[in-house]
Amino acid sequence: MERKTVNLLNFPIDTFSKDEAFNYAKTLLDSAKSSHIVTINPEIIETAKNNPHLERILKEAELVVADGIGIKIGLLIKGKKTDRIAGIDFAKKLIEESAKTGIPIALVGAKQEVLEKTVENLTSQYPDLNIIYTHNGYFDNNEEIIDEIKEKSPKLLLAAMGAPKQEEFIYMAKSILPSTLMIGIGGSFDVWAGNVKRAPKILQKLGLEWLYRTIKQPERFKRIFPTLPKFICSIIEEQYLKKGV
Ligand code: UDP
Repeated sequence: MERKTVNLLNFPIDTFSKDEAFNYAKTLLDSAKSSHIVTINPEIIETAKNNPHLERILKEAELVVADGIGIKIGLLIKGKKTDRIAGIDFAKKLIEESAKTGIPIALVGAKQEVLEKTVENLTSQYPDLNIIYTHNGYFDNNEEIIDEIKEKSPKLLLAAMGAPKQEEFIYMAKSILPSTLMIGIGGSFDVWAGNVKRAPKILQKLGLEWLYRTIKQPERFKRIFPTLPKFICSIIEEQYLKKGV
């Protein structure tokens, strides 16, 4: 299966449908090599514009799915209509798939009690889930944790430490673990632990989950708000003003 990417501000974004993206992720899961799925949003791209290491991480990822309405709008400006793929839903599908076949998985991220509750809830939902390693997301030495993970040989690793921390962790892990599919999923463990509620389905469908989360956690406003218009303006500029230059 070939990737179909469109560049937003020079960052390649995959434009697979939800099903195609999942099928592609399954091939990565079966692969003998390690790989990195990024669920991208405008904030990560804006950060990466001033952070060459993060830029490299995003450009070398094996699959970059459009999380966040901002990316969807950006791709529309570029003439490409895509599905929005929420990282939390995508990761849940990977968990379901792993439970079916007993694929060994590792969970890294969130506070200890959140992590424990996540494990409890996931295993009661999927009794066959084969969780072979867990660690909370508060540590200083990435390499130490990755070495511990390597001993356990997971095929799937979910990193929930927020971006860009989780992306840096995964990038380093990609160079150390031989064959693990890894995905960064931000605050998903808080949701799975039952501490944070997702937006009602209707808002999710309308692409307004970010609005709900911003109202619930107003501190997110500072993070999201100035970024989104800036990001959209840069794409418009890229698409219409720099053409032919
Ligand atoms: N977190 C972590 N280690 C850190 C900082 C944050 O594990 O050093 C966790 C935090 O407990 C929370 C998640 O990362 O569970 C970040 O959630 P946020 O909602 O900020 O991420 P987003 O979904 O917006 O990327």
